[in-house]
Amino acid sequence: MSLTRLANLIDGRLEPPRDGHWLDVYEPATGAVFAQCPDSTADDVAAAIAAARRAAPGWAATPADMRSRLLHRLADLVEARLDDFAALESCDSGKPVALARSLDIPRAVSNLRYFAAAVVPWSSQSHAMELGAINYTLRHPLGVVACISPWNLPLYLFTWKIAPALAAGNAVVAKPSEITPCTAALLGELSIEAGFPPGVLNIVQGRGPAVGLPLVAHPDVKAVSFTGSTRTGETIAAATAGQFKKVSLEMGGKNPAIVFADADLTDANLDTIVRSGFANQGEICLCGSRLLVQRSIYDTFRERYLARVTALRVGDPKTADTDLGALVSQAHFDKVIDCIGQARAEGGHVLCGGGAVQLDGRCANGWYVAPTVVEGLAPEASTNQQEIFGPVVSLIPFDDDAQAIAIANGTGYGLAASLWTSDLSRAHRVGAALDFGIVWINCWLLRDLRTPFGGTKQSGLGREGGEEALHFFTEPKNICIRY
Ligand code: NAD
Repeated sequence: MSLTRLANLIDGRLEPPRDGHWLDVYEPATGAVFAQCPDSTADDVAAAIAAARRAAPGWAATPADMRSRLLHRLADLVEARLDDFAALESCDSGKPVALARSLDIPRAVSNLRYFAAAVVPWSSQSHAMELGAINYTLRHPLGVVACISPWNLPLYLFTWKIAPALAAGNAVVAKPSEITPCTAALLGELSIEAGFPPGVLNIVQGRGPAVGLPLVAHPDVKAVSFTGSTRTGETIAAATAGQFKKVSLEMGGKNPAIVFADADLTDANLDTIVRSGFANQGEICLCGSRLLVQRSIYDTFRERYLARVTALRVGDPKTADTDLGALVSQAHFDKVIDCIGQARAEGGHVLCGGGAVQLDGRCANGWYVAPTVVEGLAPEASTNQQEIFGPVVSLIPFDDDAQAIAIANGTGYGLAASLWTSDLSRAHRVGAALDFGIVWINCWLLRDLRTPFGGTKQSGLGREGGEEALHFFTEPKNICIRY
């Protein structure tokens, strides 16, 4: 059987990898190879950076209105093929096709449209001085920038980076995850149809050390926007430090969801709390994997929560009523199963799930894990400290605000927290005391693209979203005129 072979996008052309090597791309639902992606090398990266360098001055000089129109055109083309993109994203990542259709692909379209719209009225500052001078700030695009994205929300996070970079007038060399390369490859094809000038958007597929590292370390690359694991973030920070280039790092998390006794636990809110742990098989950086519950309601809450979790359906991602599809790879499946074993080994009591799910038919060899809830582990236990990034939630009781805050803040991460309470004062007080970049109160994953997005501590450096992203992808220059 001949497999679909994806291409790199370099200088406006779709190209095979220069040294002719390919990587297998697996369908997690079946465990079978369904495509091949370029196993690119530093030569492909160098060609893409050279193309981006040639394109950068012309793109920077293109009026914002025209850049905006091209981004809108690309958004139109993606939207027109919503079903194709959703099917491909699901096939590549194992996520339910219904989730890709309702969340991932519409959000990718929104990312493109948001920055296409935001850049047109964008203005810079001016500061008048009484003594007879005026300062004004120019914001220049940086030139060539690198955008590196992970596998969990493939097109969603890929567009979250390239859209502001392109809108602000930079030429981009982007690297999607080698585990989920397909929708970025299709987007690359559509960017040609949309009419982007050659070299403005380049996409180099392949592995992190072979493609990502030479890309971030290249002296012609002026900024790196990265989303992925904390370990890779460290490698990128070290590789770029000597060149003092701009770096934005969005990394791992160990997020708490905190339920106070006074929370309004309607069925809808409980459904959101369940979703906040298990959406996309728990493979969302914002999922709450530590569920802190005030002791006075712990037993009743646990009963209602478990009833919902055990009702979640693990199944073929193509089936409409599937809640959890497959984990993204054999390696990640093995890691999550090991983490559940570790939870047991350190004394955790598994309340539901606790292992692989064996499906049949076409899914017999897929990588499925049952939604798993554990309790009885101290906040310091490794299950409550290390990112698992799978369908595993740990229940932790607490007594009062101070203890909830201490437990929530007591890991090395600081990406997102959610808290559930009917007491407005408590919401503000606890929200302010949580050491996280994002705090949701009585909601989860409610995203306004204008807001700053990112984490503290080992979860992140810098912020994405809205004005923050446009600032990151431009260099301010102050001009002072005396009159
Ligand atoms: P990863 O770090 O393994 O890979 C991310 C990207 O970096 C991939 O494209 C990969 O090929 C590339 N890469 C790997 N090694 C590299 C190197 N040495 N130099 C340059 N690039 C390299 O992460 P992953 O497993 O794909 O994604 C899961 C992780 O991403 C989780 O930790 C999750 O929390 C995190 N994540 C964070 C956010 C956020 O916004 N903070 C969002 C989504 C995912």
